[in-house]
Amino acid sequence: SRHVVVVGASLAGTRTVQNLRSLGFAGTITLIGAEDELPYDRPPLSKDLLRSDWSTDAVEANRLLSRDELEALDLDLRLGVAATALDTDARRVSLADGTAVAYDVLVIATGAAARPSPWRPASGVLQLRTLAESRAIAERLALGEPVVVVGGGFIGTEIAAAAVDFGCEVTVVDPVAEPMTRIVGPHIASSLVDLHEQRGATTRFGVGVTDIRGEAGALTVVLSDGSELAASTAVVGIGSIPSTEWLAGSGLTLENGVGTDAYLRARGASDVYAIGDVARWPHPERGMDVRAEHWTNASDQARYVAAAITHSASAPFESSEYVWSDQYDWKIHTVGFRTPDGESIVVGDLDADGRVAVIHADGDGNACGAVTVNWIRALNQIRRLLASGGTAQSIADQLQAPAAVVAAP
Ligand code: FAD
Repeated sequence: SRHVVVVGASLAGTRTVQNLRSLGFAGTITLIGAEDELPYDRPPLSKDLLRSDWSTDAVEANRLLSRDELEALDLDLRLGVAATALDTDARRVSLADGTAVAYDVLVIATGAAARPSPWRPASGVLQLRTLAESRAIAERLALGEPVVVVGGGFIGTEIAAAAVDFGCEVTVVDPVAEPMTRIVGPHIASSLVDLHEQRGATTRFGVGVTDIRGEAGALTVVLSDGSELAASTAVVGIGSIPSTEWLAGSGLTLENGVGTDAYLRARGASDVYAIGDVARWPHPERGMDVRAEHWTNASDQARYVAAAITHSASAPFESSEYVWSDQYDWKIHTVGFRTPDGESIVVGDLDADGRVAVIHADGDGNACGAVTVNWIRALNQIRRLLASGGTAQSIADQLQAPAAVVAAP
């Protein structure tokens, strides 16, 4: 029987092996992960877990699967050892401990790493991608001392919200005027800036960071307008880069991730798939290659590839395109996508109703995505309506019609 090797033991890798077994795959599965940790979930690292008491229970509740579930999967599990090279002719993965593993089918699920901070003072500058880093940030926030967050994307602003809850004086800096615009669109992005300000964070948007000096407890963050911020801790969240160094020289197509075809098969090798944050695949509706960095995408791709391995894939992968973020008491959800040339229709009013939905149209007026705040029912309705097609206006009309909500199953 075939030997499946999965490299990367986080969401995409773990869900692949779970799906393989639940689909009846009985061959050998080797799961290789660089981190010396049982697989865990990342979104809570900037949300609930960051704010938690970090008890053993809290940490264990955040595992992607229990020890018993892991045991039952009957894996050849190699944690704490990174893959260092891939030979697609010999169908072999080399590991950092000097051993090598041969495969019949390889799944690349090595995700992404935080884009390294260009500023490296002695201490006090932290980044967030791993469990250990979340814990280290929580320890600094618990001091209640001033924090500068560099980067106003989802992760940066979630950390800022947590820091405010810890009682820290918080400043968020980003060279972009309304940093979340690309994901949530201008309407919600500007409301988010207001939200952070109202809750007590200071936003310095439209100015960059040029330097960070000093050490933990006594940092100076220098901004591009010449001003300086004193901080005890700086957290730098300036994006991520796909983890593909180990694939150098493998012959795979490496360009902002591992390039695949529409079936998530890596270009340049046979029987090799790439999924999750590391994969870049042709997106049918957008007409271009995309690399998603979202939980649901990684999980969807794991399920798709496990089915392709066990039963062979007949249809190209389709992403459910669903992302969320929690900031203070706001639950933000996005589905689909937005195009820079399309219009958006706003339904509801955050100030008056405490909830809002914004439906995005593409250049032709057809609905292609939406963002909601604190309005799960609209979100679910929009997801169904998006699947059946139509204009953004028609979706907005149906959202406003109470009968449509009642009629929903
Ligand atoms: P990763 O989770 O990056 O895992 C890749 C794994 O591969 C890592 O464990 C890594 O150590 C390992 N690895 C790397 N190189 C090697 C190697 N050479 N050999 C062996 N192993 C290797 N998404 C949302 O949709 N909503 C959210 O609210 C949200 N919040 C987030 C908050 C934080 C703080 C972070 C960091 C991410 C968040 N995400 C969120 C994104 C989501 O967590 C990712 O999309 C998801 O983790 C991707 O899973 P993955 O398995 O593809 O990659």
